[in-house]
Amino acid sequence: EPVVVAIDGPAGSGKSSVAKQAARELGYGYLDTGAAYRALAWHALAHGADTSDSTAVLDVSGDFDYAISLDPDAYWVRVGTTDVTEAIREPRVTDAVSGVARVPPVRESVNALFRSLVAHSGRPGVVVEGRDITTVVAPEAPVRILLTAAPEVRAARRSAELTSHDAAAIAEALHRRDASDSKVVDFLTAAPGVAVVDSTDLDFDQTVAAVLDVVRA
Ligand code: C5P
Repeated sequence: EPVVVAIDGPAGSGKSSVAKQAARELGYGYLDTGAAYRALAWHALAHGADTSDSTAVLDVSGDFDYAISLDPDAYWVRVGTTDVTEAIREPRVTDAVSGVARVPPVRESVNALFRSLVAHSGRPGVVVEGRDITTVVAPEAPVRILLTAAPEVRAARRSAELTSHDAAAIAEALHRRDASDSKVVDFLTAAPGVAVVDSTDLDFDQTVAAVLDVVRA
């Protein structure tokens, strides 16, 4: 069984880029679980489904055919034969994703998929990143980390990424998504045994180093 390094945290905490870099340095695979929920939201929108309606979401999740690369150096996400790597980052998908992620049977089936992807990764380990990895997907993982950062720092990083200057609107959208997501899983407080890495005052390299310190401790 590959070793799992479980990393949870809110939107804009730097989880994805930090987890990816940590995976590279460890020679591990990298699994972005948020991408699965995003891909399902993309699929639901492509079918014209109302993503706030759990019955409609369940209907379209029946033929959801999803694939993701675990290679941190060659990252892609596909739905059927369509490459959705870029499309799942569009604001319309980000706005719809909490709706699909709150449907319990959807969570159960993606979690089963995540465990199978890790088991068949062919790697010594996988860094798995999301909201409920330390608590639900891999509560037995030998390394479990909650990556946090102050809300204003997360909003600033996200607006730099999106090359948008409307920091207030971005902060508001992040806050709305975290509020909605945290009703489904608590990723704002660390479960017992979970190490907290607060990146508020750390740059990217320092955050990666802090994560690797936890892994190697
Ligand atoms: O990490 P990212 O921001 O890409 O996640 C997109 C969305 O997927 C989150 O806003 C949340 O609704 C959902 N998600 C989740 N559980 C995870 C990972 C992501 O519910 N483990």
